[in-house]
Amino acid sequence: MTCLKPEGAVPGTAGAGGLDFNAYEQMAPRAPAAIPAALRNGARVKHNNIAPEGVYFPKYNMLTPHMRSPDYVQMSTAAAITLGLVPGRMHRCSCTRCLNLLLTYPEGCRANCAYCGLARHREAERDYADRNFIRVDWPAAPMEEVVDIVARDVAGSPFHRMCISMITHPRSDADAVTVLKQWTERIDPAAIPISILSNPTTMNRSDVQRMRDMGADIFTVALDAATPEIFDRTRGKGVQSPHNWKKYWEILMDAREVFGPQKFGAHIIVGMGETEHDVLNLVQRLVDLGGHSHMFCFFPEKGSLMDHLPATPRDQWRRVQLGRYLIDYCGVRVDHMRFDDMGRVVDFGIPKAELDATIDAGIAFRTSGCPGKFADDISACDRPYGDSPPSNIASYPFPLAAADIRRVRHQLGLEQPGEHYVADEEFEEFGQ
Ligand code: SF4
Repeated sequence: MTCLKPEGAVPGTAGAGGLDFNAYEQMAPRAPAAIPAALRNGARVKHNNIAPEGVYFPKYNMLTPHMRSPDYVQMSTAAAITLGLVPGRMHRCSCTRCLNLLLTYPEGCRANCAYCGLARHREAERDYADRNFIRVDWPAAPMEEVVDIVARDVAGSPFHRMCISMITHPRSDADAVTVLKQWTERIDPAAIPISILSNPTTMNRSDVQRMRDMGADIFTVALDAATPEIFDRTRGKGVQSPHNWKKYWEILMDAREVFGPQKFGAHIIVGMGETEHDVLNLVQRLVDLGGHSHMFCFFPEKGSLMDHLPATPRDQWRRVQLGRYLIDYCGVRVDHMRFDDMGRVVDFGIPKAELDATIDAGIAFRTSGCPGKFADDISACDRPYGDSPPSNIASYPFPLAAADIRRVRHQLGLEQPGEHYVADEEFEEFGQ
């Protein structure tokens, strides 16, 4: 058995209160400020009513056009670069394998999640299409143009998956269906499988069933918070947001029945105040139900209600990434692991040689999400630099090289004997 000693690990960043993890007491969001009535609900964009012309990039620094799904969708900068819609380069990535399409409206998302750059409390400060999600900008483009580009060469497409991301808006359910229809009319879902990142707050079981019937392959629910208390504090009543833990689980269980084993999952953000034991218990619960977990490392997004808080320390994050991979793909159970009195992993419950082999393979530390075409445990959704800067990568959007593995081992406090970690090289910033 391998025993980790968290106190010996060298964190990439210090956690809240100087701890090597982000504790619940330290991770309280700020309260949202009141929005003047004249600036609510996308009033500025609707009043100016500028007609959109092609692709809109949040840094164009012009009056935000009136763009609305299903005619317009937003996408990650990585997806826009891969499609050739905007110029740019990504650190150590030639493309992204997942085309994430986000529904967009001048009114924006009506929820107020404390960690999210798209949240409603920002509407006085920035128009919706100019807010970034987490870390990266999301340009907007006509849906027809997006479909045209991919349909031109489906077999040669770099995308292994397309994902429709819903937001909290009265039109979101109907428009997600329209976007799905526009896509499947021209692109065979067997060639590029489709995922739905749902918005349970406005959905019911028949919406889940409709998306399955229309060709969606995987259905995910962004729980984001690992416990009901953190959920309520970061995306429920605690921040005047409409989401409810029980409703999220209802839709997750509907997805389990409608989509079936291995075809549903939940997103979890690590480092918002839960313990490592909490989050790995949730991962185990999802695996026992037949689903998967997709993880994100908490990043204090500027302008969000949690921008005063520290990013997840890298040692906490690596332990959870490794534990999650072992539970999701290697048959290890959370009850095989041991935790200290602060809920940190001190033993992963497998022999050292097996643990070493898993660490050295590197897959555990890559971005997690719905699978692409390389392997079941390699996510198509690689989200380049969506939860960290390239200088201190949390989720690796590319296969790890030997130097990356040494860095991860250093962060875990599990360097191999005689191995020397070379401190940060110069990293070039993400081209966006
Ligand atoms: S529902 Fe999603 S998009 Fe809306 S504020 Fe919450 S995390 Fe952001």
